[in-house]
Amino acid sequence: MHFIGVERYWNPYLETLPPKQLRDFQFKKFKRIVEWGYKNSKLYRRLYDQAGFNPDKLQGWEDISRVPILQKEDYRTAQAKEPYPYGDSLCVPLEKVTEFHQTSGTTGQPVYQPDTWEDWEWWNESWAYVLWAMGFRNTDRVFIPFGYNVYMGSWAGHYACEKIGCEVVPGGILNTEERLLKIKELKTTALMATPTYVLSMAEVCRNKLNIDPKDLKIQKILCAGELGASVPAIKNRMQELWGARVYDHVNATEVGGWGYECSFQPGGVHVNEALFLVELVDINTGEPVEELHMPGKIVITAFDRYAQPCIRFDSKDIGMWGKPCECGRTFRILKGGVLGRVDHITKIKGVLFNPASVGEIVRAIPQLADEYELIATKKGATDVIILKVELVPGADAGQEDVRKMLSRQLRLKTNLSFQIEFLKYGSLPRPEIKINRFKDLRDNVDYYERE
Ligand SMILES: [Zn+2]
Repeated sequence: MHFIGVERYWNPYLETLPPKQLRDFQFKKFKRIVEWGYKNSKLYRRLYDQAGFNPDKLQGWEDISRVPILQKEDYRTAQAKEPYPYGDSLCVPLEKVTEFHQTSGTTGQPVYQPDTWEDWEWWNESWAYVLWAMGFRNTDRVFIPFGYNVYMGSWAGHYACEKIGCEVVPGGILNTEERLLKIKELKTTALMATPTYVLSMAEVCRNKLNIDPKDLKIQKILCAGELGASVPAIKNRMQELWGARVYDHVNATEVGGWGYECSFQPGGVHVNEALFLVELVDINTGEPVEELHMPGKIVITAFDRYAQPCIRFDSKDIGMWGKPCECGRTFRILKGGVLGRVDHITKIKGVLFNPASVGEIVRAIPQLADEYELIATKKGATDVIILKVELVPGADAGQEDVRKMLSRQLRLKTNLSFQIEFLKYGSLPRPEIKINRFKDLRDNVDYYERE
């Protein structure tokens, strides 16, 4: 369903601002946060002084790329200093901090994230754009199936739901079957989860509870926390299983809720250009990438977050600009959402390989279950890539046909030959939170960037 008129947008003015005005607005906001960081944070002052940069040099849009890029490691170095635990990355007196969160630590020592109450309201505002664009309204009862713990995502989703008037059911303490029964009992209309968990919930629903997930009558599902909801094969699989519309959302603890798919499902995510500056830069040269359909590394600035600012942060995610969306928002589209991570891209047999491309292939084949595992290893001096997948019950008889089909698709999309291993249905873990399905057992392998 598409809402019409101003009802379609959370902020009708900013979301439809003509591009020229939008860029002027962004530049003013960008300059202000750069000045704030330089004045109040020793981390940014150190970074900029070392690079010979001063905020006075920011005269126009073209100067943005002169601002040094911040790495996650810079936060870690700053947080190793006094005072504990935020070190000199904190820009406000400690007593102003009301929220503590941290990153998941999948790429090393977690980064701590302090926020003031104003920052926290800003976080929820960024999520309000997201939920509103997906059609969440005050008539929705939203189920969040995770324990929130110290991680940002679900907390922000929870409060933003309340902000726009939804009723929220936090299902953290329950197991998957109990969560599904709660959804049924309360007739919840919407769900938020990772694509992996959306798929595995559907599996448990059918196999353990003997209920068709469609009968739960969930209307919309917000997916975040990992890639997949912008990939047609994965999105379709989720939509068909649940009989619901599935939308992609991207956020990061250090950044904010910066991208969202709207109800028009344009095959990617809008960048929230009212609250963030999202740049694409060439992976090798760092030069800006403005052309459509050219992959680049995503560099992000949050305009209005003050306790621990995020200015030209190297997300290590890969994206590419797509055509404008028909919903009327002037916010640009990243086609296909986030396409992968720079630090996961590696060479196998001399061919550049993005592990994220495999999920799409596996999930487009109905005889295969949703989970898979990828292992890169060596046989003598030669690279070998192994794909472990499960056949769904009843598909064993046609195993060799499936192997051929899978092999062909893999070859076509990645230019590589895989060693395919079929596993017993249900033997791979079904994680609740994001996991890395790619294990590289080779020594001394080149990655674009690895922390
Ligand atoms: Zn749109």
